[in-house]
Amino acid sequence: MKAIRRFTVRTLLPEPIRPLARLATNLRWSWHRATRELFASLDQELWEESHHDPISLLGSISRDQLDQLASNNELVERVQHAAADLDRYLSEPRWYQGLGPDAPACIAYFSPEFGITEVLPQYSGGLGILAGDHLKAASDLGVPLIGVGLLYQAGYFKQSLSRDAWQQETYPVLDPDGLPLTLLREPSEDGTGKPVTISLPLPNGRKLNAHIWRADVGRVPLLLLDSNVPANDDAARGITDRLYGGGGDHRLQQELLLGMGGVKALRVYQRLTGTPAPEVFHTNEGHAGFLGIERIQELMSTEAPLSWSEALAAGRASTVFTTHTPVPAGIDRFEAVQIRHFFDAGLAPDVPVEKVLDLGRENYDGGNPAVFNMAVMGLRLAQRANGVAKLHGVVSREMFSGLWPGFDHSEIPITSVTNGVHVPTWVDPRISALARQQFGTEAEALGRWDLAYNVSDEDVWALRRQLRVSLVEDVRRRLRAAWKKRGAADAELGWTDTVLDPDVLTIGFARRVPTYKRLTLMLRDPARLKALLRHPKHPIQLVIAGKSHPADDAGKKMIQDLVKFTDDPAVRHRIVFLPNYDIAMARTLFPGCDVWLNNPLRPLEACGTSGMKAAINGSLNLSVLDGWWDEMYDGENGWAIPTANNDASPTERDDIEAAALYELLETQVAPRFYGSTVSAEAGAAGPSQSGPEAVPTHWVSMIKHTLAHLGPAVSADRMLQDYVNTLYRPAAESGRRAVAGSFKEAKELAAWTTKVRTAWPQLIVEHVDSIGVSEEPQIGDTLQVNAYIALHTLTPDDVSVEVAYGRAEESDELEDITVAELSSFEDLGNGRHLFTGSILINRSGSFGYTVRVFPKHPSLASKAELGLIVNA
Ligand SMILES: *Cc1c(COP(=O)(O)O)cnc(C)c1O
Repeated sequence: MKAIRRFTVRTLLPEPIRPLARLATNLRWSWHRATRELFASLDQELWEESHHDPISLLGSISRDQLDQLASNNELVERVQHAAADLDRYLSEPRWYQGLGPDAPACIAYFSPEFGITEVLPQYSGGLGILAGDHLKAASDLGVPLIGVGLLYQAGYFKQSLSRDAWQQETYPVLDPDGLPLTLLREPSEDGTGKPVTISLPLPNGRKLNAHIWRADVGRVPLLLLDSNVPANDDAARGITDRLYGGGGDHRLQQELLLGMGGVKALRVYQRLTGTPAPEVFHTNEGHAGFLGIERIQELMSTEAPLSWSEALAAGRASTVFTTHTPVPAGIDRFEAVQIRHFFDAGLAPDVPVEKVLDLGRENYDGGNPAVFNMAVMGLRLAQRANGVAKLHGVVSREMFSGLWPGFDHSEIPITSVTNGVHVPTWVDPRISALARQQFGTEAEALGRWDLAYNVSDEDVWALRRQLRVSLVEDVRRRLRAAWKKRGAADAELGWTDTVLDPDVLTIGFARRVPTYKRLTLMLRDPARLKALLRHPKHPIQLVIAGKSHPADDAGKKMIQDLVKFTDDPAVRHRIVFLPNYDIAMARTLFPGCDVWLNNPLRPLEACGTSGMKAAINGSLNLSVLDGWWDEMYDGENGWAIPTANNDASPTERDDIEAAALYELLETQVAPRFYGSTVSAEAGAAGPSQSGPEAVPTHWVSMIKHTLAHLGPAVSADRMLQDYVNTLYRPAAESGRRAVAGSFKEAKELAAWTTKVRTAWPQLIVEHVDSIGVSEEPQIGDTLQVNAYIALHTLTPDDVSVEVAYGRAEESDELEDITVAELSSFEDLGNGRHLFTGSILINRSGSFGYTVRVFPKHPSLASKAELGLIVNA
């Protein structure tokens, strides 16, 4: 029979070991080795059975055993010590506390998914893991961040395979009471106050109510909204059922809840805890973009309400938007009528619905004006925006250039902050142990990656082997389990005990399976791959994993093709596909692989972070120059798979790039891994025969170089510091200026913007001339440029007039541009003005210049902000 209701009874721990409850609820254990070891030591067997979940572990220890533990003085002392350590971690000043009083008092970080630990499966891939790493690094650095997201009843799906290798999805329902979460309640004497509920109106008089769960990620609270509450009708209860489950209205309602409900949840949290109000709102991907509308609604509904444009100016000033994908399918687009339908229900009663619709409208070249684009809204609601790697910045500036017509792509105000990974989460404990043992805890704490050079080659190589051995063992276990799920009997599965060889070059490939990541590129020439796997002297072995989106049959077909290849008895000992890629698998996979393979269609990988996780474990990257690798590959830290040029057709492109991959593996990667001693052995039967003395010195030097150089560069600490310095602090400053003195600056900016937008269509550069250049100009000549501009109702202070000059291409396109501002020289009457300035001719060859005008105001963060420009 089935239970009609299910709940988890939380264990009341005996007094002496009661702090274990706090240690289990604060997710710092997920990256704090000592706390994990403490839990494991309570009962090793139950720890394994609980899949390393402290809450489930505590729930499964019997009363008697708990009492026994509580009378074990040595253990009680360790518990007290761990609790004191956690308290210290939660309260001591860290990096951020050294920044001084004007650093933002609080930053709200919104994301549709958070991947913190496998115990809280609320992520599908890179975006979620990144958000989790962002919170963890914020905690380590003392950044006062609050995360905001949704609590999905079934999280993302669990993947298994049918006998025929077709992906099967299951959605085990989570019980929030059994998760490391605390329900937010109204204050009461005994802590059993009513759950806090936030609510949004829906069409037809319905309501969307949600409770708020708090996860503690070290010092950072993460608020998760949950619509599965009794006050909702069934449809509303199901809104937070799954991550990226439905499309259309279902997805839209999730996003309304995340953005608008998220701001409401923050406000309640502030009220209950006395936390300062966020001074910066960080939207990750378009999904959370409605937060900007909720904030505008707040500003338009006070006792002294702001107008739409004033509220927009005030809200934008403190908002940061991060775009995480250059793949159009990764961006949510709704029908404009759908948006109207929901906003007509009174979601933001003081905000004109037309204004909301304008925010997401694709009213630019190549756009579809009937569509509401969440990324476009995100960009319009945020004064600051960024991509997630340098190349992704370039691609995003081009992709969204339609919003800033007339500007060069390089001037589009989207910067970039390259992603990073949370080192304590992703580095194998044996690597940090080696570092501690050889250089002390100080060096570990200081992140002295350069000390990698001081480790002996033998130690590095021995550790790499240990890591590979652990992976091989994990793979055998998982593969057997996967085959049993596919319906095989034990008797058929003897071969899985000897799958993979701990001395063979091990290559990993694991990530979501959208088409652009090209899971099956390696199968382009199956015979060639087979030969690489079965090479007599330099064999390779491959460990592959990844989930396809449930609605993506092309992705599932790729998985099927791959798995069918791995089923072949001739190669199945050297290539495996592991179902259900998740954080737990990843933590063994990255350290255990010698090489991390990545072959997306350039430039569709925004950043990619799995290669970073591999790098901090001393795996070498073999990747297309896309995302982070494009900026960090240096010739000695791995290999670059060349990209076919743009005129190649998609199939030609795959052929060319796959051939390049095989070639690299065969001629560079494998020989180097096996070192010269092995390849010199004529007719050696296999690599296992090379003794431990056979350290491949060139390979090991690449490992050391990777650790020393990439370690600090790919760390989430570096990423977070970049966000704080280049985005959060400037956004908080703009935000404060905007609201100071009863929104004086926001009001001024709004009025000025309206004036400028109205006047702009009449603004004309009437005439430009230059004086001072003879028939044959020379380097060192000065050129005086005069620009006659009809400003009509605007004044010279409202604009910036710029001369841009440089090398002129045959097409008249300017390259290597320098810009200089011209100054207002004379009021010519009737709204006409002369601007002038001089430029130095500093190059030979063809030289050109042009004059441009754009609006200028101290509250603007960039000259392109309003998207207004007049080019001569
Ligand atoms: C790091 C990670 C990802 C993201 O990997 P990409 O290389 O960015 O695609 C996805 N899933 C898991 C479990 C990860 O650990």
